[in-house]
Amino acid sequence: MPQLAQRVGRAKPSAIMLIAAKAKQLKAAGRDIISFSIGVPNFLPGEHVYAAAREALSHDSGQYGSNRGADALLDAFLKHIEALGFHGYGHANLSVGIGAKQVLYNLAEALLDEGDEIAFAAPYWTTYHDIADIVGAKANVLPCGPAQNYKLTPSQLDAALARKPKVFLFNNPSNPTGMVYTREEIAALAEVLAKHPDTWIITDDIYNSMVFDGIGYHNFVFAKPELKDRLIFVDSVSKTYGMPGWRVGLLAGPESVAKAVTTLNSNHITSVPEVITAAAVAALSGPQDIPQAKCVEFAARRDTVVAALNAIPGVTCPRPQGAFYAFPDISVAFGKSHNGTKISNDVEFCAALLEAKGVACVPGSAFGEPRALRISYTCPPAQLQPGLQRIQEFFAELA
Ligand code: PMP
Repeated sequence: MPQLAQRVGRAKPSAIMLIAAKAKQLKAAGRDIISFSIGVPNFLPGEHVYAAAREALSHDSGQYGSNRGADALLDAFLKHIEALGFHGYGHANLSVGIGAKQVLYNLAEALLDEGDEIAFAAPYWTTYHDIADIVGAKANVLPCGPAQNYKLTPSQLDAALARKPKVFLFNNPSNPTGMVYTREEIAALAEVLAKHPDTWIITDDIYNSMVFDGIGYHNFVFAKPELKDRLIFVDSVSKTYGMPGWRVGLLAGPESVAKAVTTLNSNHITSVPEVITAAAVAALSGPQDIPQAKCVEFAARRDTVVAALNAIPGVTCPRPQGAFYAFPDISVAFGKSHNGTKISNDVEFCAALLEAKGVACVPGSAFGEPRALRISYTCPPAQLQPGLQRIQEFFAELA
């Protein structure tokens, strides 16, 4: 019998998808399930996006498109990132992908040889570790616990970069913690980055439109423009515009990197389809009132979620300032039982919570932090309070 490639053995199915599937299965069996599991924005892009897609459909040539991305998409993305604060970029600095996930995968292939090191903070988005594993890179995971608000410190970064990793991968706002780095924190980390010229920097900042409390979105290049030569900014229409299934991600970075990713595109995907491209152009260049309104709404929900979680004795939830996640430390439950079911870790906690209360959350170990769990609070508004209440009840019933 022929064998599968070793790389497949290193790839794990997404833990987030597994819990979402279990929740779906219980729901199909008639259970009343509230899902705080999958990180979908749960709103729709405006009518202008659908109109642009329909218009493109009416004259879609059905031909292959550009490996880098259609000119109209690159133009729209340039305007979009200029508004964020990225200046001096042209088409040669850009490339496209089937979502930010595929852009990140392409970047891993473009920047990492087998055995190379990639450093990133934990808690991390699950896929970072999986991508590193698939390309055979060594992940140097930098633990950032709740005591430091799940944020990387300059001294941690300095120590990690002293090992000369090939890539430092950064995520702000964070999935899974919802933490956002302030202007000052970004500037302090940028100082450290400037001292270590041998490392590529990827900033996966796809939640940049969802920043609360007036903190604003900041990037290392805003603080240290010389980092532009080795920094790649990754963005996506998925979360900002409520378009996760449309699958459009983009990058802005050095020409050599954009060209490498474009070459990989020519071998992996050829192009993003024309109808999808038209929808992404409309989203990026059309009215921004939907993302703005959602940001306000998510900030209000954040308050509800954090208050409910911190009201549970022994649970601590650092206050997120962006995205749509909360990441409470629930380790106080470990060693206890719920209705006779023993809970010794986060995975057992999430399984028991789903079984007993019908609330689906993702175990923190999926993100490299087994003391916590992730709550994605984009559910229909009427489910938020009941879901939180069920979590409170679950804790109250622990013995
Ligand atoms: N980066 C982060 C931090 C994410 O949370 C996600 C999606 N969950 C992605 C990248 C991938 O997004 P996309 O839908 O554009 O592939």
